[in-house]
Amino acid sequence: MPTRRNISPDQQLAALIKHAYAHAPAVRKIFDDAGVVPRAIKRIADLERVPITTKDQLAQLQRAAPPFGGFLAIPARRVRRVFQSPGPLNEPHGAEKNIARVGGAVFRRAGFKRGEVVLNTLTYHLSPGGWILDAALRHLGACVVPSGVGNTELQARLLLDLKITGYAGTPSFLMTILKKVEELGGNVPAQLALRRALFTGEPYPPSLRAQFEEAYGLRTLNAYATAELGFLAYDCAAQQGLHFAEGVIVQVCDVATGKPVAAGEVGQVVVTAFNETYPLIRFGTGDLATYLAAPCACGNPMPRLALVGRVGEAIKVRGMFVHPNQLKSAAAKFPALGRVQGIVTRPDHVRDALTLQVEVTQDVDRAALAEKFGAAVRDVIRVSVDRIEFVAPGEIAADAKGIVDERTWK
Ligand SMILES: [Zn+2]
Repeated sequence: MPTRRNISPDQQLAALIKHAYAHAPAVRKIFDDAGVVPRAIKRIADLERVPITTKDQLAQLQRAAPPFGGFLAIPARRVRRVFQSPGPLNEPHGAEKNIARVGGAVFRRAGFKRGEVVLNTLTYHLSPGGWILDAALRHLGACVVPSGVGNTELQARLLLDLKITGYAGTPSFLMTILKKVEELGGNVPAQLALRRALFTGEPYPPSLRAQFEEAYGLRTLNAYATAELGFLAYDCAAQQGLHFAEGVIVQVCDVATGKPVAAGEVGQVVVTAFNETYPLIRFGTGDLATYLAAPCACGNPMPRLALVGRVGEAIKVRGMFVHPNQLKSAAAKFPALGRVQGIVTRPDHVRDALTLQVEVTQDVDRAALAEKFGAAVRDVIRVSVDRIEFVAPGEIAADAKGIVDERTWK
């Protein structure tokens, strides 16, 4: 993980904290309010003492002290670009290299090399996505074609004319461009030099992956990145979660206590990036993920996370966060099952009871199915299911809440 030669991540963290506390008034206030002195943070393990700053809090702080909420840690005259992402959140970029360095390493994982000619289709306007990819690719020594979004036909012609070898952007847009190439009479992959793609910005379903990799012969990698922090994690051939990116501190933390969760548990993705311009220490992304610590079949030793959804959509059941997407993903493993809804009650005012209503769409052995489905859900959420009720297709509305909290607190 070291991003500077001869400096350990712990030393790098201590230097970042010292710099941020000295120069960013908001960071100083967070530490002072929590009674934490900068020199108390000597190791990554010490970070849990620092309160998490959520995305909403950051937006509020920026509104109260515009434009950067007291998080700018360099003189204003050294800011080189200002981006804005939804929130709204203002993001200053200076001469720092870390976002590019971390991103460059992720592109390398995706097989991108020096000299690669890359079509970068994320937007370059206002939101930092396009520039984050651009900086990462140039750090790697690639040649960027900054095409941005839209203009599908033009993009299709760029692929052909410029002999583009790599693509960066969303998977759905690449599919749109490749379909356009075919519509124009081109043959994918025979006429294209395109060999690899790095996707970010939207989910990358297995069906789309199969099309890119098998039908079009591309090597693809899916990366998790945010506007505030750049690249955070990326997937691998094993397809079992996303490896933490090197050169940035990614933690999965309990939403209430802020402490890192144990392996297999769900928590918020909390990030500390080595960014001297805009040091966000323990930034709560609002994304919920399962922390996976077991070795990955691909051999990459970095721990992994599996994204499950947003923090506000999850409900705590017997002390564990349960997200509707976890119930959905368990139900999707059974062809006989349709929509699912969880109902949390507390009949004896002591223990939470979890009931699942699930649509059954085929004539099957219900007792056996209930047992298998219950076990599959427990594997995902680590909370046992008290009762499974099968209902007819259509009984759960398409827009129904994935989990309903019917507990009363007496
Ligand atoms: Zn792996």
